[in-house]
Amino acid sequence: MLGYSIKGGNDYNMVKRYRTLSVLLVIITCLLVGSFYLYSTDKIGKIYIQNTQKSIYNLKKDFLKDTVNNQIARIDEIRADKTKIYQAQVQQIELMLQTIENMQPNEFMQMYRKYFEQENNRAVWSAALWETETGRVVYDPQNILAGTSPAEAAELILADFSAYRFSPYGKYQAFFGVKKSYVDAQVKKMIADEIHNSKFAEESYIWVNEVVNYEGGRNYAIRRIHPNLPETEGMKLSTDMTDIKGNRAYRTELEGIKKFGECFNTYYFKKMNSDVISEKLTYAKLYKDYDWIVAMGIHLDDMNGYINKTNEESRKLAVDLVKILILQLFIILGVSFGLMALLERGLFRKSKKKLEEEINLDLLTKAFSRRAGDRDLHRRWDYYNETGISPAIVYFDIDNFKNINDKYGHDVGDAVLINTVQAVKGAVRTSDKLYRWGGDEFVLVCDGINSENAMGLCDKILREVNALDYQAQGEHVATTISIGVAFFQESDRDYTDALKRADTAVYRSKSNGRNQANIEI
Ligand code: GH3
Ligand code: MG
Repeated sequence: MLGYSIKGGNDYNMVKRYRTLSVLLVIITCLLVGSFYLYSTDKIGKIYIQNTQKSIYNLKKDFLKDTVNNQIARIDEIRADKTKIYQAQVQQIELMLQTIENMQPNEFMQMYRKYFEQENNRAVWSAALWETETGRVVYDPQNILAGTSPAEAAELILADFSAYRFSPYGKYQAFFGVKKSYVDAQVKKMIADEIHNSKFAEESYIWVNEVVNYEGGRNYAIRRIHPNLPETEGMKLSTDMTDIKGNRAYRTELEGIKKFGECFNTYYFKKMNSDVISEKLTYAKLYKDYDWIVAMGIHLDDMNGYINKTNEESRKLAVDLVKILILQLFIILGVSFGLMALLERGLFRKSKKKLEEEINLDLLTKAFSRRAGDRDLHRRWDYYNETGISPAIVYFDIDNFKNINDKYGHDVGDAVLINTVQAVKGAVRTSDKLYRWGGDEFVLVCDGINSENAMGLCDKILREVNALDYQAQGEHVATTISIGVAFFQESDRDYTDALKRADTAVYRSKSNGRNQANIEI
């Protein structure tokens, strides 16, 4: 990947293509993750809404069921209260009759009749008299006994009356009581008033239909109590009636009632105090004694409003979350591309340096090349001109190298070159630079060395080279070098002048017997 700087345009285009591809990949990943996230939140939202809907539904169902059951309990309660009142009245009448019991039979009968035929009592009470001895009915204006004997009448009376008394008074057996139908009519009226005056949350209300025919069909029931449409009370109902969506609500209700005694149902009906027709959840329960279906309903609009609001809120939340997610992904993308670019640049620099070094290296000895030495000496010459500080220019040449080549062969010559470079490198600091100037000639550039201590360094170099113990053809290949040292001088035109002085010093070392160093100031 990093080779493009050297190989040129093709590689660069490839890198560009890879980069575009990875951006595309990341964008696709972003989109995929985003849509997956959106899909998931949408799904979770739907489940949440379903659950909310379900629990609201259940709450409403409970509310309807509880209210209807309470209303039915109220019917029983009022019936019981009414019955108690009439039972108390029966006792009072009995006490009253006991005070006139000893009258002449005719007089007693007169009083008895008078009492029960009073304006207020006529509608409430049923009364009859028998002669105890003969069983003959002597008074029965409402024909409650219908010609039966007192014994038979007892059965009849037990079933039809809420409060009554059979009692003998003198020569008579008397019966008086309040008919169940009378009490029930009163109870029904009270319940109707109560329902009409009841107010429930969300404009819900209770209504009552009285079943006439449990088989259903036309006129199967009569609408008895209906606070929403009071003008329709008394209307006959049919199980074939449909709502605006074609639901046969009465039929479903009747079937549920017949099977379970109660029924939940949904259909469309007019809202209270409005002409709007909307879906309604209802609960109906049978009050068998009256054949009453007591029902209550609640329109679902409000619930849907709440659910839609929740739905909207959760969708908004999901969209916000996806936006944040995508933003995060883009930030990650940006940061990672930034890091990648930084890393790439770092690696590029490093490899460039390495390559440059490789280019500047002599392949055989791994000393730096003459090209690099030339550049380095140029720089140092400039530096010298700025600061007056000169490095030591240590020029050396392997002694009698031609002989080594001739005697042992070129390969041994090569090995001697390599070993010499190693030995010199070992004698100097790593910051000192060694250049192969050509053949068996080298230039070493050392900082921090002056004419005084230069000889010390040269001695060290000479020792290291002398110490080389290279064997060829079973012999020790003695290796020595001749060194010449020089420094930049003010009179120099460029660095080559100093190099020439160093070369002269090498020549002197050679002339003086080799394996030595000389300095040329
Ligand atoms: P002197 O002591 O005066 O320097 O004698 P010398 O024999 O070393 O003479 P000179 O320095 O002129 O000889 C250089 C020889 O080095 C000539 C050439 O064949 C040999 N040479 C140059 N480059 C290489 C190389 O890469 N490998 C080998 N084996 N020999 C080389
Ligand atoms: Mg030589």
